[in-house]
Amino acid sequence: MKKNVKYIFVTGGVSSSLGKGIISASLAKLLQGRGFSVTIQKLDPYINIDPGTLNPYEHGECYVTDDGAETDLDLGHYERFSNTPTSQANNVTTGRIYQNVISKERKGEYLGTTVQVVPHITDEIKRSVQILGHTNKYDFVITEIGGTVGDIESFPFIETVRQMKWEMGHDCAVIHLTLVPFLRAAGELKTKPTQHSVKTMLEQGVQPDIIVCRTEHSLNEGIKRKIAQFCNVSPTSVIESIDADTIYDVPLLMRDEKLDIEVLKVTNTPIPEQLDLTNWERFVKQLKNPIGTVNIGLIGKYVELKDAYKSINEALVHGGTENEYKVKIISLQSEKIDSSNVDSKMEGLDGILVAPGFGGRGIEGKIEAVRYARENNIPFLGICLGMQCAAIEFSRNILGLKDAHTTEIDKDTPNPVINLMEEQKEVKNLGGSMRLGLYDCHIENDTLTYKEYKKKDIQERHRHRYEFNNDYRSRFTDNGMSIAGVNPSKDLVEIIELKGHPWFIGVQFHPEYKSTVKAPHPLFTGFVKAAISHSKG
Ligand code: GLN
Repeated sequence: MKKNVKYIFVTGGVSSSLGKGIISASLAKLLQGRGFSVTIQKLDPYINIDPGTLNPYEHGECYVTDDGAETDLDLGHYERFSNTPTSQANNVTTGRIYQNVISKERKGEYLGTTVQVVPHITDEIKRSVQILGHTNKYDFVITEIGGTVGDIESFPFIETVRQMKWEMGHDCAVIHLTLVPFLRAAGELKTKPTQHSVKTMLEQGVQPDIIVCRTEHSLNEGIKRKIAQFCNVSPTSVIESIDADTIYDVPLLMRDEKLDIEVLKVTNTPIPEQLDLTNWERFVKQLKNPIGTVNIGLIGKYVELKDAYKSINEALVHGGTENEYKVKIISLQSEKIDSSNVDSKMEGLDGILVAPGFGGRGIEGKIEAVRYARENNIPFLGICLGMQCAAIEFSRNILGLKDAHTTEIDKDTPNPVINLMEEQKEVKNLGGSMRLGLYDCHIENDTLTYKEYKKKDIQERHRHRYEFNNDYRSRFTDNGMSIAGVNPSKDLVEIIELKGHPWFIGVQFHPEYKSTVKAPHPLFTGFVKAAISHSKG
C-alpha cells in the first residue's frame, strides 16, 4: 500500500547554531517511538557539491554514509538518534541542485525553454525532497534547511517549501526554530527577534506551523501566548527548547513539550496512544549516573575545534555509557607532541585514540603517541590515519626501518609501508574520489577484534586514499603485529592489532560513523572497557 507521506521542514531564524539538527533528530526519535518510520534530510544552501572538500575549520567533521556520500555532520546526529542509515539522498547542496539542472539542460531535457530558478531549480529541490518520500519506506520525511531564513542563499529552498505547502496542504508542515534571548539588564525574555524572523518567512510566503524557541530560561504561558498571537500559530504550537545538559536529553524535553503531538495535529495524522522511549530513557539514565570516570586522550590536529571529531566524541559517549562510565576526553594537539614531552602529555591517560586526518601537520606527534601507547601498555585505538601511524611506528621502532613513512607525506620514502591504492593512482579530481563508504572486512579467528565484534564478517565505512602496503605484511606478522581483518575482494589490510598488548587495534575504516545510541560500536565499547581496566591498574 502506498504510504501517505508527510513532509516536515525545519527552518531556522535569528541565529545559526540553534540546534536544528538535534531538534530534527529528536522529532524523528519521538515519531519512531510512536511507531512511524522516519527519515531525515539536510538541504545545505552552499555551492560546494558536498562537504567532502571542505576543511574541518569550515564545516566540522565530514560524515560518511553507507553508500559513500560525504555529508554534513548533522547526518551523524540523525543516524545516532534514529538508528536508521542515511544515504546520498539525505544531504543535498545548492551545488548539487545546480549541477543536476545544468546537466539536464546540456542534455536538452528542458526542450528549448529558458532555465530559471523558478521553476527549474525549485522543481529540482522538490524532486530531491520527494525522492525520499517516493521510496514508500517512510511515513515522515523531515527536511532540515541549513542556514537561517533571510539568507540570500536559502531563497530557492524557502520558495520550494512555500510551493510544497500550497500543493500538499496538511501533508506538509513547517517547524521554525528561533532564539528567545534573555536580556539580563531588563530581566526579561525577548520575543521580538522571533516575531521578525517569522515575518521574514511570511514575506517569502511561508507561515510556520510550529515555532520552537531556543532559550536559556523557561518560557512562561504569557510569553508563549505572545509569540502565538504575533506569529499566527496556536499557543500549543509554541514549543520551548531550553538549553540541555546533553543533546541526548533533547528528545525527552521535546516529548514533555509535546512536539510530536503538535506535528501529528498539524499534519492531520491520527495520534497513536503509545510513545515508547524505554531504551532511550535507559541510555540517558545510564549516561547521567556513571559509576566512574575514565580518561581517554584524543590525539588529532583539529582538537581545538568542537565539531572536527564529532562522531568519535559521540561514539566514545556511547561506549562509555555502555560500560556505565563517563569518558573524559582529553584533547591533545598532535603538533605539540614530541619525544621530549610525550611522557608528560600522556600522563594519566587510560586510553589513547589517534584520530583520522590528512596531510603531514602533526603526524610525528601522532606517531609518538602510538609509541607511548605501545610501550606503556595503554589501550590504543587508531582510526584511519591513526592506524597508518601505528603501522609507521611499528616499522620504524620494531622492524628497524627508520625511514618508514606513508607516501602521502614522504613520496620518496624507501619504505612506503603505507602507499597509494592502485585505483587512486590515476585520480585527478579531489571531490568524491576517495575509497568511500561500506566495504566488507573479514576478521581472523583468535583475534581481539573478533572478541569485540563477535562475528567474522563485518562492513564498515571508509574515507581514504592510502592503504597498508602488502609487501610488508609478513614482516609485521613475524614480529608481533597481526593482520586481524582484511577486505576479501581486494586483499586490503583493514585491521592491525598488536599481540601481547592489553588492547591495541588500528582500523583503516571509521567505526565511529556507525555507532548509535541503540547500537554502540563494539570497538568503542571494547576500547573504553580496556581503558577502565587500565585505570583500575
Ligand atoms: N590521509 C589518509 C588517507 O587518505 C587517511 C585518511 C583518514 O584518516 N580519513 O589514506
